[in-house]
Amino acid sequence: MMEIPEIEKATTAEIKHFQEEKLKVLLSYLNENSKYYQNLFNTHKINIAEIQTLEDLARIPISTKEHLQEFNDDFFCVPKNEIVDFVTTSGTLGEPVTVGLTDKDLDRLAYNEAISFACAGVGKDDILQLTTTIDRRFMAGLAYFLGARKLKAGIIRVGAGIPELQWDTIKKFKPTYLIVVPSFLLKLVEYAAKNNIDINASGIKGAICIGEALREQDFSLNTLGKKIKEAWDIELYSTYASTEMSTAFTECSEQQGGHQHPELIISEILDDAGNKVPDGQEGELVITTLGVEAMPLLRFRTGDIVIAHTAKCNCGRNTTRLGPLVGRKKQMIKYKGTTIYPPAMDNLLNDFSEVASHVIEIYKNTIGTDEILIKIAVKTPSEELLVKIKDRFRSKLRVSPKIEVCDSKEIQKLSMGKLGRKPVGVIDKRNQ
Ligand SMILES: [Zn+2]
Repeated sequence: MMEIPEIEKATTAEIKHFQEEKLKVLLSYLNENSKYYQNLFNTHKINIAEIQTLEDLARIPISTKEHLQEFNDDFFCVPKNEIVDFVTTSGTLGEPVTVGLTDKDLDRLAYNEAISFACAGVGKDDILQLTTTIDRRFMAGLAYFLGARKLKAGIIRVGAGIPELQWDTIKKFKPTYLIVVPSFLLKLVEYAAKNNIDINASGIKGAICIGEALREQDFSLNTLGKKIKEAWDIELYSTYASTEMSTAFTECSEQQGGHQHPELIISEILDDAGNKVPDGQEGELVITTLGVEAMPLLRFRTGDIVIAHTAKCNCGRNTTRLGPLVGRKKQMIKYKGTTIYPPAMDNLLNDFSEVASHVIEIYKNTIGTDEILIKIAVKTPSEELLVKIKDRFRSKLRVSPKIEVCDSKEIQKLSMGKLGRKPVGVIDKRNQ
């Protein structure tokens, strides 16, 4: 197994000092090569020589997805012919944002994923089965492949969907880990039950889970996590990442949040006003990438609401861990004085075995306040079930969304993202 990098076991003070040295390198690199940050430093009269500590970072204005969209080309620090891999990430203003990676960036991405897999116990003797797409301008799929290669582990690129092909692959190649969207694990369980496949004899020992939360904020399994564990007793590791960060936060054996890798990223958890939130409280993740050559980001708002945990982990790493995604800031719903994020609603709906699939639509009503419409597919629709779900929403989340029964094909169509890379469970119509 890959050793834990020394810096991840160092003291908090050592890690801070290490990051401050890396930050200085980044600042002078941006000052020399990034048109966007040169403008930012000039406009705000920032002398980068005065930014010496992580605390000093607070003097630099925050950049957002909107900036990245509007000034996309200005973020590039290398000429276009240095870019090897072109990927895109969904923009907030329509057009997707282009992110480029140089040869060196691909090495960094490989290192990032290798140490992240190692967090989840993956080693040279393991074989990973990739059940997500590797193409479609998607960074994560490629990162998984490069990370496996760096670890010298095996990887089988099956791609998304097709339970039959997934099981055929499991039988043929005996993989030990799946890289998977958690709800798809339930589809695999269902297929196995219908086809007399003994899942516990499959040899799968763990799953690296992306896209959906498995745990509550106290790290106990949420409804989806419990459902999976009851059906299939494998280890579940959450991983959280984004294209802009080019960095993953993956859970270790302790499964107490995704570990930050201090050699790759600086993270801050801030409130709406841009101030650091007190330890253990939720706030928006703001990141600074380290070691990125083509498109480094300095104090970039991810739009993701999380809680950071800083106590030393029993796995030996002394790095910050991020808890499950509370929600996307853009998808925050203000409902009659209550603030709510879609993952809490997903969690509640997952508790109803009668609900086969669902999508959440958010829209503004005629008086301009948020409304929620939940479309569900059920095998046998009944008024009683709808009442039961509504009651649960009222008592647990203090909201009463509209609920509509739909055909499962319609739900599937609605939840297929534009690029078909990963399912989208939320359709936000408020800014259309
Ligand atoms: Zn740990």
